Formats: sequence, structure tokens, C-alpha cells
Amino acid sequence: MVECIRCGKEAVVELRYCKEDLCQYCFKELFEKRVWKANKDFSLVTRGDRIVVGVSGGKDSSALLFVLHKMAKKIGDVEIIPVLVNEGIEGYRNKAIEKARELCEKLGYELNIVSYKETVGFSMDEVMKVRGPNGHKSCTYCGVFRKNGLNQAALDFKANKLAIGHNADDTSQTFLMNLLRNETHRITKFGSQTSEEEGLVKRIKPLIYCLEKECAWYCEAAELPYYLGECPYANESFRGESKEFLNELEEKYPGVKFNLLHSFLSIQEELKKNPVEEKPFLKCASCGNPCAGVKCKKCEFVEELTSKKNASKS
Ligand SMILES: [Zn+2]
Ligand SMILES: [Zn+2]
Repeated sequence: MVECIRCGKEAVVELRYCKEDLCQYCFKELFEKRVWKANKDFSLVTRGDRIVVGVSGGKDSSALLFVLHKMAKKIGDVEIIPVLVNEGIEGYRNKAIEKARELCEKLGYELNIVSYKETVGFSMDEVMKVRGPNGHKSCTYCGVFRKNGLNQAALDFKANKLAIGHNADDTSQTFLMNLLRNETHRITKFGSQTSEEEGLVKRIKPLIYCLEKECAWYCEAAELPYYLGECPYANESFRGESKEFLNELEEKYPGVKFNLLHSFLSIQEELKKNPVEEKPFLKCASCGNPCAGVKCKKCEFVEELTSKKNASKS
């Protein structure tokens, strides 16, 4: 039996990057401490918050909902509203919804569901049929539509924050992708949270110091229901390959993901000291939401898909 380095009970996880074997109790404590640390470093959750929590039934968001539920109780006067965005992927999302519902019931929340079909008029299954050979990758549409759906739900619920389950893996992947695409101007724009804009609810990422694998371990240790299935359209992206690359590196050189994350955080900190003149947000000509150009990505994609759909009919 491998012993927990902290208490001597049976170890169930091995943290290779710090050479520690931990039992489920000590691991759970460590995971929660990291979320509190992120909360202290970036002041994410405070008294009086009304937070929409994006849940999917997957490991990250299940861990997120449970940790926030515990934090809310401890901090006091924090309201939690779980919202699930249903992309409309047959055979995948329905199973995940059941897990999300189970968790919400266990914690005493009502699960609110919005769907792409309502918010943009196309389910992801339909997007995949309609987009055609010159369309975007699945995750490009899905990312924009999910962001839009969650933001809209947060506005509708009059929440002042929107919590999402992005973990340390997600942040280090995004950073790597920004570097590989020479999009350094984006480095100040993501991370533990986004700035507030009219029409855009502040997004917070309490799991920024937790690895993806650890979110699954946490769900196991805390006995939370979660769905492990992968999105059938997920393998189509640059992100997918960056993720694989980082996973392989982490396997060989434990700790590289956290190193990349902390490089990102220190570079971001430096860049924020000399802010470049930001272009003010414009309003989308079609839906009125804040956007960088004339029309927002959501409206651009919806128009593209609608015209492709109509063309295929005639
Ligand atoms: Zn222990
Ligand atoms: Zn728009």
C-alpha cells in the first residue's frame, strides 16, 4: 500500500509534479485550498454576489459547482444559480444533463437549461449538417454559442458574475495557442476573470489552479455525479492538438503545465502595468451585444448557417 504523505492513510492519487501521494481526504483538502488561494489572489467570490454557474455534467463544472456551493456557505450571502447550455448533441448531452441534474438535486439547486436551439436557432447536430465544406470547425461555432448562451442567462438572472469551470489545463492551452498564433494582444484578455463591460457579465474561473485530471479526482473523492463521455465533435480543433501536446509533455516532464500557467500569470501581470490603448467595445448591429467589429461572432455565424440552410433547400 502506498501511504498518504500527509496522514499515512492509503494514497489514492499521485501528484507527480510535486512528488506527493495523497489519500482522498488530504487531496480534497488540497484541491479546495487551491480554489481558496485563487479566490484570495484574484478576489473572485465576495459577499453579496449573485453567481450564475455554468454546469455541463462534466467533471470540471461538477467540481466547480460543489466547491462554490461550499464557499458560498462559508462566505455568506452568496447566491448560486446553476445553468446548463444544451448544445443539442444527440446521445451525448442528454446523459450529461442527467448527471448535472443529479448533482443539483443533491445540493438543493434547481438546474436551469438553455439550448442553442432557443438562443441561436440551430442545435450543434444541425450546425454540423449545415456548415458545409467551407464552414468553421465545430468548436469555433460551439465556443461562441456557449459563451453567448451563458452570458445571456447571467444577464436574464441579473447575476453580477458568471463562474465557469476552466481549469489550469484550459488556461495553459489558451496561452500556448496565443503564442503559436502570435496573438499576444489576447494575453491580457483572459485568465482568472474578465473585466466588466456593459452587456457582458464578469466571468470568473475559480479552478484556475487545478489541473483537469484533478477535477475528476475531486469528483471521485467528494462522490459527485459526473459524466465522463467526450463530445463527439471535440477532436476537430487546434485546442485539441495543443491539449494533446501538453499532456504528452506533462507525462515526460511533470510540472510543465503549472510552469506554463505561472509564466502566463506573470507575463499578464507585467503587461497590465503598461496597458495599451484599448479599442472601446462597439455594439453589434444585429443583436446589440458588445462586440469588436460591426457584428458579433454569434450573429455572423447564425447568418452564415441560415443562408447555407436556405441555399440547400432551394
Ligand atoms: Zn491523507
Ligand atoms: Zn450580435
